[in-house]
Amino acid sequence: MLDQTAAIIAYADEISGLIETGRDFHRRGWSLGTSSNYSVVVDRDPLTLLLTGSGFDKGRLQPKQFVLVGEDGRARHASFPKASAETMLHVALARTAGAGAVLHTHSVMGTVLSERFLPNGSLPIAGYEMLKGLAGITTHETAIEIPIFPNTQDIPDLAARLTERLRDPAAPLPHGFLIAGHGLYAWGENLAAARRHIEVFEFLFEVLSKKRQ
Ligand SMILES: [Zn+2]
Repeated sequence: MLDQTAAIIAYADEISGLIETGRDFHRRGWSLGTSSNYSVVVDRDPLTLLLTGSGFDKGRLQPKQFVLVGEDGRARHASFPKASAETMLHVALARTAGAGAVLHTHSVMGTVLSERFLPNGSLPIAGYEMLKGLAGITTHETAIEIPIFPNTQDIPDLAARLTERLRDPAAPLPHGFLIAGHGLYAWGENLAAARRHIEVFEFLFEVLSKKRQ
């Protein structure tokens, strides 16, 4: 069982990738005021995620502010800081969506759109060249629906509803979802893919918001 000191050495590359992601997302206004959380899967058997700890400034993350968690969402060792309250959403995505990395942002545009479209249950996006930045999409003549879940402090309940949605063969959910008045979750096979998906979504949210003004 790795303690914090051993984990910082073993996962130095993953940690520096997430620190760089936080600096970038904070600078762009997507992860302000200690909001957001980021993870990468470092082991599949048993499932282990390296995740940002709770309550840290994402623009100035340090190696000691990460935590290794298992499938139960609990820290693998007492030397780690407290895991994010939203840990079980990361675990659900790693387990059920096969995500290799999960990123969560709290942008202004995502927050505004998620509230406005909550009554519809999803945010439709169609016809933009930028959609081709999402894995598996090869033409701008594509229409996607980003599901919107109502916000809640009951994360285990939200994780259960998310898992159910991910398992629904009639409604594939390959890239991301919104939580109303809260923010965006996006993921990918690795950190680079997850970052690309966040960037694509945040770009499209800005386009849609400006268009509606
Ligand atoms: Zn959040």
